[in-house]
Amino acid sequence: MASDIQKSLLVGGYEVVIGFETHAQLSTQSKIFSRAATAFGAEPNTQACAVDLALPGTLPVMNKGAVERAIQFGLAIGAHIAERSIFARKNYFYPDLPKGYQISQFEIPVVQGGAVEFFLGEEKKSVRLVRAHLEEDAGKSLHEDFIGQSGIDLNRAGTPLLEIVTEPDMRSSAEAVAYAKELHKIVTWICICDGNMQEGSFRCDANVSVRKPGAPLGTRREIKNLNSFKFMQQAIDYEVRWQIEQIEDGHAIEQATVLFNPDTGETRAMRSKEDAADYRYFPDPDLPPLCIAPSWIDEVRARMAELPRAMAARFSSEYGLSDYDAALLTQSQALARYFEASTLACAQPKLCANWILGELSAALNAAELDIAQSRVSPLQLAAIIAALGKGLVNGSGAKTLFKELWNATGTGPADFAQACAEVERLVGEKDLGQMNDSAALEKIVAEVIAANAKNVEEFRAGKEKAFNALVGQIMKASKGRANPQQVNELLRAQLGA
Ligand code: ADP
Ligand code: MG
Repeated sequence: MASDIQKSLLVGGYEVVIGFETHAQLSTQSKIFSRAATAFGAEPNTQACAVDLALPGTLPVMNKGAVERAIQFGLAIGAHIAERSIFARKNYFYPDLPKGYQISQFEIPVVQGGAVEFFLGEEKKSVRLVRAHLEEDAGKSLHEDFIGQSGIDLNRAGTPLLEIVTEPDMRSSAEAVAYAKELHKIVTWICICDGNMQEGSFRCDANVSVRKPGAPLGTRREIKNLNSFKFMQQAIDYEVRWQIEQIEDGHAIEQATVLFNPDTGETRAMRSKEDAADYRYFPDPDLPPLCIAPSWIDEVRARMAELPRAMAARFSSEYGLSDYDAALLTQSQALARYFEASTLACAQPKLCANWILGELSAALNAAELDIAQSRVSPLQLAAIIAALGKGLVNGSGAKTLFKELWNATGTGPADFAQACAEVERLVGEKDLGQMNDSAALEKIVAEVIAANAKNVEEFRAGKEKAFNALVGQIMKASKGRANPQQVNELLRAQLGA
């Protein structure tokens, strides 16, 4: 079953081992070694200059913005940032690389070590990074099937990439996807990459192998260019099943680079894998070593916004949230900002967390909206929670308030006082006020007991469910407005329980 493959550590007696190489396109205006623009979607071959093509007489010049983004990434994942790193030429022939080599970093990358931490369900995981290095992208082959020709678009040549390489630390496709999502969150949170997977700004290669528990690492196959989290999971699951079948049938796995076909759900070998030696790496003679002064790193650190991990830790310590809720609320800056704005207004962090992760998330999902497009503002949510806290409404009244505000038009209140006034007006208008009048409640309770002899009997016979049924009837009779705690007490008293 698919879910077995995704979650369990052993699949048919085999352990799955996964390591990731991710290419994050850095969000600079211009290319890594030239002034040509990096904008997506331009007419083919209008954004490649002589430097990108390495025409004779040109020289590459390092883009400071790309280096700065690499530093930001290194700081975000607790890595060492090399004071001196080297650019190398990776030599290979391919139509989309007419200059015959890619400028990359080989022996000494700019970012070394570090780790990405995330939750897999409620379990905390940490994937170690080997390195992250700067490199340039290649061009793109365009296959015009209808005229039977292929063309090369070199607009992408020289676009800055950060290639982020993990240790083979992941043990299931679910863990791999959770890692990729966390990495995606980090690079978009610190704004070094726009994270657009359809446009190829964030593409993952998954290295997959299987082994019997305790055995040395198996031979890996590398699934190239996974550009959606869904395909990632499907591709790895297929690959794992395929490798196990091969081994069980007595075949050895050969190291290879494979492609995932979303239409068939299968992976297929593209080429047998090259070794580093095949690329004839050597230091690029046109580029001096990249030197990063500690003072520059300090400057970058001082300018960086609070990171998701630090923010989650602060949410736990400052607001008493569970680690899990804190991790969920720091999935994006927008979500975290929403939480803090509502919490600072009503001073009810736990209720804010529950409402945002429950009612609000459900409403956003149903309407396919992002948190930034929420139809209930953080101040409005805070006002609902404050009304709940003051006993102005009960839980069901609060949910009605939420729906009313969600469906209302208009710009929403400018401050918390205004939001509270709006909520109080709605409570009056829609008759949502909580009933705390014990005389009136006692009367309803007595009526419900009289009309539901069967439930009463069952309750006396020890069925707690029957009690809940009676509470339900009372809530209904009060049009959902009764104070639930009072109802509970009055009902128990009248039943002599
Ligand atoms: P190469 O230099 O050939 O690209 P690396 O040693 O850099 O190989 O590894 C590339 C990626 O493959 C890394 O993310 C690493 O964690 C992963 N990897 C290495 N060996 C295995 C293995 N046996 N199974 C799964 N992943 C692996
Ligand atoms: Mg590699």
